[in-house]
Amino acid sequence: MSRYIGPVCRLCRREGMKLLLKGDRCLSPKCAIERRNTPPGPHAAKRGRKPSDYGVQLREKQKAKRIYGILERQFERHFEEANRQQGSTGENLLRILELRLDNIVYRLGFADSRKQARQLVRHGHFTVNGINTDIPSYIVKNGDKIVLRDKSRGLEYFRVVGQTLVKHMPPRWLSLDARGMGGNIISLPTKADVDLSVNEQLIVEFYSR
Ligand code: SF4
Repeated sequence: MSRYIGPVCRLCRREGMKLLLKGDRCLSPKCAIERRNTPPGPHAAKRGRKPSDYGVQLREKQKAKRIYGILERQFERHFEEANRQQGSTGENLLRILELRLDNIVYRLGFADSRKQARQLVRHGHFTVNGINTDIPSYIVKNGDKIVLRDKSRGLEYFRVVGQTLVKHMPPRWLSLDARGMGGNIISLPTKADVDLSVNEQLIVEFYSR
């Protein structure tokens, strides 16, 4: 499956905010948003036009896509699924994005960024309810158990992660078992649980045009 491989700090500058795509660097003074919070491109800083409604909706959709590291078609599929479900489409969408397996691995503290989590999942390091699962877009359910595979526990990377997991605080809808190198979904995330400045209603308006 294809993925974005260009410079990621450029994406943050385009959205004018930290999308936290580079792990620890995002929290350091080296962050491009800290040093130069202007849109990318030679004349971007001079562009001062007020964006149209469409432009605002488009930017919100792009922001969410980039935070979760998802390409267009996949994001559309998540939106279609959110639209099929009962309740608020925007909140359904946020819940689906949060329940992606790569996001769970990131939220549980096994990776510094969603991009890194996605790679760990693709390399087959995790099981869901005891079954090897290497699909980052796999949507977990309430009660599911995500655990590091036995054969991966001896790897140096996971030995180091194991020490940091002890101090990691996952969101309240996840329970982390640092010793067991895994976690459970103890409730479905609500909008209040999503600590991202994404206006999901604008995304719904974008797809409803
Ligand atoms: Fe975005 Fe992180 Fe780069 Fe800062 S360091 S611009 S938050 S990806």
